Amino acid sequence: MSTTTSSGVNGHPVHAITVDVEDWLQSTVDSKLPLTEHFYPNTQRVLEAFAERGVRGTFYILGLAAEKAPDLVRAIHAAGHEVQSHGYGHELVFQLTPEAFRADLLRSKALLEDILGIEVFGYRAPAFSITAANLWALDVLVETGFRHDSSVFPVVTRRYGIAGAPWFAHRLRTPGGNELLEVPVASYRVMGKRLPVGGGGYFRLFPYGVIRRCIKQIDSAGQAAAIYMHPYEYNPTEFANIDYPISWKLRLHQGLGRGKFPGKVDRLLGDFRFGSVQDALDSVEELPVHEYRGAVG
Ligand SMILES: [Zn+2]
Repeated sequence: MSTTTSSGVNGHPVHAITVDVEDWLQSTVDSKLPLTEHFYPNTQRVLEAFAERGVRGTFYILGLAAEKAPDLVRAIHAAGHEVQSHGYGHELVFQLTPEAFRADLLRSKALLEDILGIEVFGYRAPAFSITAANLWALDVLVETGFRHDSSVFPVVTRRYGIAGAPWFAHRLRTPGGNELLEVPVASYRVMGKRLPVGGGGYFRLFPYGVIRRCIKQIDSAGQAAAIYMHPYEYNPTEFANIDYPISWKLRLHQGLGRGKFPGKVDRLLGDFRFGSVQDALDSVEELPVHEYRGAVG
């Protein structure tokens, strides 16, 4: 059964269950659009599902969402979840200057800290937008007071990912010589390839058995990784109620597999030990070190 204790028991690590709290239209279609009201009830569905399993995870909350719904931030925290930052405006980090990224981080951190009166020290970049081309972002994170991160995607895809990045929780040495604790999204090695099944389209489309094997592979190695999701993935009727032209292609891609999504997450929470990112980091006795060289910018 799942528990929320933080140290590894019976040799099994704790894996991180993480939620990026944002609004589908603003974060996926156009970051200049205002947030719809949908993220609020969608996040409540996630909170209810986690409460039923007695699992506490990490919620990376977008600054814009926190501004619009501070009571939701308080409810997430009151339910025992770790509250961390998903940045302020959901702008992709590789499209920002270091100065703009710094401002976005500080704004989101201060916002959450003012609402809760606690320190915010963990971060996940919008769309995993820290890549080999903007590794300077890792140093900006340390300089602005962040200690853990879950932004480096361990599989290279069309839009993001870093080749050779570890697929398990580790200590990351930044190009500037700083250290961050990194918990990457779960990936599955099959037939010489690594598939990012810990969230997004892969998680929605793959049968549960594949996702279970993925976590078992990481778990058996004594390592920890993260599952990620968004509140809108808990709402199969999201698109029906959005007053905005959405192409059939995007509708199809984003809508596929949503009906079975909550059930898959629930089975996973029952089959493995899940907790917050901090729990996952604490559960691995000695975190391996990975160094990024060749600082640019
Ligand atoms: Zn996001």
